[in-house]
Amino acid sequence: MKNKFNNKSKVLETILNRLDCHVYWKSRQGHYVWCNKKLANILGFKNENDIIGKTDYELFAPDLAKAVVTLDKSIFNEGKEYQTEEIGFDSENRKAIYLSIKAPIKDEFENIDGLIGISIDITSRKQSEIAKQEFLMNMAHDLRTPLSGIIGLSYIQSKEGTKAEDRQHGQWIQDAGNQLLELLNLVLEVSAAEHHYIEIIPRDSIYLEQIVEELQALMQPVMITKGLDFQIKLDTNLPLISTDRIKLKRLLLNLLGNAVKFTKEGKISLEINLLSIEKNQAKIEILISDTGIGIPEDKLDKIFDRFYRAHPSYEAQYTGYGIGLFLVKKTVELLGGQIKVSSEEEKGSCFVLEFDFPLAGIKRINTLS
Ligand code: ADP
Repeated sequence: MKNKFNNKSKVLETILNRLDCHVYWKSRQGHYVWCNKKLANILGFKNENDIIGKTDYELFAPDLAKAVVTLDKSIFNEGKEYQTEEIGFDSENRKAIYLSIKAPIKDEFENIDGLIGISIDITSRKQSEIAKQEFLMNMAHDLRTPLSGIIGLSYIQSKEGTKAEDRQHGQWIQDAGNQLLELLNLVLEVSAAEHHYIEIIPRDSIYLEQIVEELQALMQPVMITKGLDFQIKLDTNLPLISTDRIKLKRLLLNLLGNAVKFTKEGKISLEINLLSIEKNQAKIEILISDTGIGIPEDKLDKIFDRFYRAHPSYEAQYTGYGIGLFLVKKTVELLGGQIKVSSEEEKGSCFVLEFDFPLAGIKRINTLS
């Protein structure tokens, strides 16, 4: 038995020494207990045992050591696992970015007496992400500038062309240009969402009634054109909440736009319910339903995927790029919510959103009841 155990730790050590990342174990007093070969070599030691008993201050420059020790202290105090990016050096002594995962380890009495860490060099990944983002931003700019020129001039031609035919052509060029611009913006937004560049959430204090009023004004013309009934049902107790107003409005607009697009007759409804208020958080449910063509059951879990379309344009009726719901889901999650869908073919679809919005300031007195 003993032999087997010894073998096991030998095997584990071999595995850890083959890994292309740093693995280390530190005591609560900040002394290294063990590290793998890769870390020992980067620090200039031949043997991994040479690191035993050393502290970060003996291994790194003071600034770097201080940052590492500060993070380690939080782990010892809070007893939580941390995942963070740390600055360090690679084997050629160049500055490197590491993704570090650090977790506390406990003794037999459940006291935290050290930590284990794994640090992966992500410098090249970071550099290529930045390069990709820069390329997209530059391309967006380089494409948008000539496109704006085309759209602007075709607008003039559509208004001031001498012949009716010229004006029509101008209009078509303008429409195509606008469509291209919209697609370009969507692609950029998807790329931004993937890289979490849309993460900054301005906190606006809002009443949902106001957003609904604006949505109603925006949706009314298309509802009338299509002869659809737009029904709105709002809880009379909706509190003042704090969230990103523009993102919330845009995602609701997207869902309402889809509801209209996929509904030939009947109604679209928007319902908002206050489920509970607890610890300064309001649990709010938003339902958007339609009496449209519905979504086949086997496609329900795919519609939030990027570029997935349950009713593609070759069916010649519905246009789109299959990006809307992907962004809607990302944004809902960014705002701390969840989205679900239920649907029945030929009957309609219902999208249900649930958010925990922080309450903003004063509690409102309900004057309606
Ligand atoms: P698209 O630009 O194609 O509308 P979305 O990501 O917004 O892209 O939606 C993905 C697919 O989900 C749509 O192509 C459509 O097949 C389906 N879908 C979305 N909303 C509805 C709805 N209200 N009713 C029926 N199908 C819908």
